[in-house]
This record gives sequence, C-alpha cells and structure tokens, in this order.
Amino acid sequence: MAETLEACCRRARDTYVERISKVITSYPVIKSIPCPKCRQIIQIRMYGPESPGEAT
Ligand SMILES: [Zn+2]
Repeated sequence: MAETLEACCRRARDTYVERISKVITSYPVIKSIPCPKCRQIIQIRMYGPESPGEAT
C-alpha cells in the first residue's frame, strides 16, 4: 500500500536516509520520523545498502 508523500516529506526522508546510510552497520532499518515541516509521520524502511529507502 503506497502512500503519496508531500514534497517536504520526501525531502526530509531523503535527507534522513542519506545521513543514516553513512553510519548504518546492520539492516533492516525501520524508523518513523516526523516531517519537520508538516509533522506527518514518515515511515523509513531500508533493507540494504542499495535500498533508497521506501516509504509505504
Ligand atoms: Zn511533510
């Protein structure tokens, strides 16, 4: 079930993924972060180094 993210949420997600991908030592990484702009909860799921981080 895909959920359409606002541009602000996508940007927040991409920034977060980029930041944590440098320090991750084990997968999967499943996090929920609030968008700093609209306060929507963003689901972040990374299953491996090649995963861009999908929001569902
Ligand atoms: Zn947002």
